[in-house]
Amino acid sequence: MKKYGLPILIFAVFEAVAVTLWLTKDNIFYLFNFSYIGFSVALGVFLIFGKHRHARRIVQLLVGLYMLVYLGLICRENMQIEGFWYYLFTGVFEAATIHYAVAKIFGPLLFGRGWCGYACWTAMVLDFLPYKTPEKPRKKIGWIRYVTFAASLIFVAALFLSKVGNIERIMFWAFIIGNVIYYAVGIILAFAFKDNRAFCKYICPVTVFLKPMSYFSLFRIKCDREKCIDCGKCKRVCPMDVDVTDNSRKRKNATECILCMECVKNCPKDAL
Ligand code: SF4
Ligand code: SF4
Ligand code: SF4
Repeated sequence: MKKYGLPILIFAVFEAVAVTLWLTKDNIFYLFNFSYIGFSVALGVFLIFGKHRHARRIVQLLVGLYMLVYLGLICRENMQIEGFWYYLFTGVFEAATIHYAVAKIFGPLLFGRGWCGYACWTAMVLDFLPYKTPEKPRKKIGWIRYVTFAASLIFVAALFLSKVGNIERIMFWAFIIGNVIYYAVGIILAFAFKDNRAFCKYICPVTVFLKPMSYFSLFRIKCDREKCIDCGKCKRVCPMDVDVTDNSRKRKNATECILCMECVKNCPKDAL
């Protein structure tokens, strides 16, 4: 029942958002957009319950490619963080502001960093690289995320303050150039640190929103200490170095969990 019930529930929640936005904003795009994403996520959850090996990757490609190619390149919506600042400054609750509110600011209170595990188009590419589990210890350079976060804000603020014309066009090119830089830096770091998710751990500005909100996430991986034999396998396979055997919210790298389920799949005692 769970195999069908949860995907149907997820699809229904997305449909409720789709219909509400369609009617309140009088724009049928929202119906199409949230129905598609809801279907993709529901399909992914259905495949996960069916223990499909590539379930997560399928959702990543369905949602990530849609957002990158269709919304970003064809519809020319900047869904990066600078797009969020842009729409926020113009006071428009559209595109990137809705996306950030749902996936990256309020959504994480419910589903943590599910966005990072199942939908991000940057990680969609990085997860093809060979270092699925980090081969080197974590570095203490996470502060870089605050620099990139501030840089994105200053960039958009400077555009408004200097009153340049055609900001929409600049935002479109910022989306393309920003993505090229993200992919280049992400791939270089992955090989340098032997860790596919190095970009997520140290550079990504979006984590400034994601980490504090996901601390309160309703949905978390928990460990049944009665079953656990402390074999350490879950920590070895975790791409984000989370100490998942500790059930406290303050566990090591708690706000880094991307809900990829690798620990759950690999636990020999079904303790997670
Ligand atoms: S941390 Fe940033 S780059 Fe990594 S998956 Fe999350 S949003 Fe994408
Ligand atoms: S893999 Fe399972 S049994 Fe081993 S330490 Fe993790 S939770 Fe415990
Ligand atoms: S392996 Fe487990 S603890 Fe690590 S990110 Fe994936 S779901 Fe979270």
